[in-house]
Amino acid sequence: MEIRVDKVFVGKAKPDMSTVAFGTYFTDHMFLMDYDPESGWHDARIVPYGPLQIYPSSTIIQYASEVFEGLKAYRTPDGEVQLFRPDENAKRMNNSAERMALPTMPVEMQIEAMKALVEVDKDWVPSGDGQSLYLRPYMFANDLDIALHPYKKVVYGIIACPVGSYFPGGLKPAPLMLEMDDVRAVRGGTGFAKCGGNYAGAMHAGKNADDKGYSQVLWIDGVERKYVEEAGGMNVMFKIDGKIVTPQLNGSVLPGITRKSAIELLKSQGWEVEERLVPVTELLEGIKSGAVEEAWMIGTAAVVCPIGEFAYDGESYIVNNGEIGETTQKLYDDLTAIQWGKAEDTFGWTVKVD
Ligand SMILES: *Cc1c(COP(=O)(O)O)cnc(C)c1O
Repeated sequence: MEIRVDKVFVGKAKPDMSTVAFGTYFTDHMFLMDYDPESGWHDARIVPYGPLQIYPSSTIIQYASEVFEGLKAYRTPDGEVQLFRPDENAKRMNNSAERMALPTMPVEMQIEAMKALVEVDKDWVPSGDGQSLYLRPYMFANDLDIALHPYKKVVYGIIACPVGSYFPGGLKPAPLMLEMDDVRAVRGGTGFAKCGGNYAGAMHAGKNADDKGYSQVLWIDGVERKYVEEAGGMNVMFKIDGKIVTPQLNGSVLPGITRKSAIELLKSQGWEVEERLVPVTELLEGIKSGAVEEAWMIGTAAVVCPIGEFAYDGESYIVNNGEIGETTQKLYDDLTAIQWGKAEDTFGWTVKVD
């Protein structure tokens, strides 16, 4: 693929990584590429980071036709830069795009675009403890009319932002609120797709949880309203009676790549991992009886985040005395060691940028 590179004359100042909030400060450049059914994907370019020109009639503005991804570039101890499972993100981008009737983009092309942007903005990949460069690939329909028809103009882009440790003070258990009214997704809906619309529909419950002092909501399945699905923007896992348990991918749960990696890693260490339905009653009663020993969220942004409390129907259910569990901490340590190139990657998950 031919990529035009249009560099900035004077780069922005690098932020103070100890104070920069997640996703607020962007690098000097961004990747863009256009699609139409006649020409396919074309005009790949890396240009100075800045606003896009979009008509108010654009499909993205009127109909929210958008999908996105999230992954990180990590600085290894020897100064190199690597991506974590970018092929998985590219495949999921295509699965999401298909669900939204957007065009797919060859996996190799997506990885080339990610690498090219990271290459141009390489000095933006921070090297401090827990720091990385977060990549946000996205795709949206950008037709000029509000008539409903298959998309004729689509944009693919990648922006990047340096992010600090999600946990400057160490892993701190988060409180979650079970959401019994709003539904994030139903089978046959868009729950498995990483699309902006899922987040738009989740904001109401998220705000309610935030107002009450909870970190995120815990979504319950939209059909039977009985089973645990996932947290606001992360998957969930539990240690129950010495086994690892995580809700199965049923079409409405987002298939997280960190979730998938954790399952592979834990199995390789001899853990029994069950992907199955997790009834809310099993979770709450299990916390009371002590059967639920640990609970954590898992996703790219935070990697692993312990859950210290579940709130349900005005009652508070405290896991592991509100402290981080041993398995949670070890999983965080083991996964991050591979991501930052501090441990040997026997799975072949990391991809060097050079
Ligand atoms: C992105 C996302 C996750 C986590 O996926 P990762 O690939 O591990 O980052 C989980 N749930 C939702 C709703 C998401 O959007």
